Amino acid sequence: MSKMIVGNWKMNGSVKLVDEFIAGLDKQVILGLPSIFIAYAHLKNPEMQIAAQDCSVFGDFGAHTGEISAKMLADVGCKYVILGHSERRKNMNSDTIDNILLKLRNVVQNKMTAILCVDENYMELLDKSISDFIKTHTNEIVIAYEPISAIGTGIIPSPDDINKSLKNIKLHINNVKTLYGGSVNTKNITEILSIPFSDGVLVGGASLNLYDINTMASYS
Ligand code: PEP
Repeated sequence: MSKMIVGNWKMNGSVKLVDEFIAGLDKQVILGLPSIFIAYAHLKNPEMQIAAQDCSVFGDFGAHTGEISAKMLADVGCKYVILGHSERRKNMNSDTIDNILLKLRNVVQNKMTAILCVDENYMELLDKSISDFIKTHTNEIVIAYEPISAIGTGIIPSPDDINKSLKNIKLHINNVKTLYGGSVNTKNITEILSIPFSDGVLVGGASLNLYDINTMASYS
C-alpha cells in the first residue's frame, strides 16, 4: 500500500497557485489549504483530497464570530483536518489538550480524518483523554510526529530516531497510523518513506511547489 503524502500550505498561497495545483496535483496528495481556498478548490476539482489546517472547538453552527466548524469544512468537501500543529500550540495557545480533544471529536463526528500533530514531547499531548479517544478511532485519526527542531530548519533527526519515536507512538496507541513531518523535501523523501514505522509524510514548505510535491508522491 502506498504511503500518505500530506502537504500543509500554512498561511501561504493564492487563487493563482490553487489553480495551478487543481490542474496538476498528483491525485494521491492530500493538500492542507488555508480554509479560504477549500470550497473553491473542491468545486473546481471534486477529486482533490483537501485538508483544513484547523477547526473550531464548536461543533456545527452558532454565534462564534470568525470560527469555522468541522461541519462547515465537511460541507465544502474537506476530508481531512490537521489539528494541534505546533505553530498553533506555541504561538496562539489555543490548542490546549481539552480543545484538541473537542476538535478531534468534531472532526470524527463529521466523518473526516484528523491528522493530529505531536512534537518531541508527544507523551504530554497524548495524555490519557486523547489517547483513549484515539484508541477507539484509529481509522479516523492519524498522528503526525513533527519534532519542533525539524520544522522549517532543514535539520532532521536520523531515520533511526524517527523510527523509534514512531514505534513508541504506535505501541502507545494500538498501531495508529503515523506520519513524519519536518523539513521533508525531494532530496530526503526516499529515505523518510523507507522508515519502517512511517505511514507517510507531512510536508510544509516544499508542498508549495507543485513539481516537488508531485515528485515526492511519485516515490510513495
Ligand atoms: C510543518 O510545519 O508541518 C512542516 C512539516 O514544515 P516543513 O516541512 O516546512 O518543515
